[in-house]
Amino acid sequence: MTTQTHHVDHELIQAAGHVARTRCRGDNHTMAAAARAQDGRIVTAVNVYHFTGGPCAELVLLGTAAAQGAYELDTIVAVGDRDRGIVPPCGRCRQVLLDYFPALQVIVGAGERLRTVSITDLLPESYVWADHQLETDETEPLGTS
Ligand SMILES: [Zn+2]
Repeated sequence: MTTQTHHVDHELIQAAGHVARTRCRGDNHTMAAAARAQDGRIVTAVNVYHFTGGPCAELVLLGTAAAQGAYELDTIVAVGDRDRGIVPPCGRCRQVLLDYFPALQVIVGAGERLRTVSITDLLPESYVWADHQLETDETEPLGTS
C-alpha cells in the first residue's frame, strides 16, 4: 500500500462528536461533520435527512463553510449520532469532496484503524465531469479552435 497517512486531528473529531451528541435529534439530523479550514477554523454541520435526497452532513458543511468565508478546507470528519463514532463519507460525498477539494484529507476508521487519508485514496479511478475537465485541462479541448 502506498497510502500516505497523516497525523489525526483529534480536536476535529471532538468537534464533530460534540455536535453529534448535542445537536442530532430524531430522524432529521443523524450525522455531524467537522472540517478544518485552511486558516485553522473549525466548521461544523449536520445532515438534513429527507426522502427526496436531503444532503449529508459533509455537503451541508460545504455550504456552511462558504457562508462563513471558509472556501478552502484541509480536513474533514463525520461522526454519527447514538455513539456510532466516525462514519466514512458515502459515495456521493466522496465525489463532491474530491471535486471541491482535491487535496482534502479525510479522517476514517476507529481505534487502531483511526487514520487520515486523502480523498483521492477514497475514490480511485474517479469520474471527471466534462466541464470540470475543460477548466482544469491545460490542453486544448477537441473542436474548440
Ligand atoms: Zn454523503
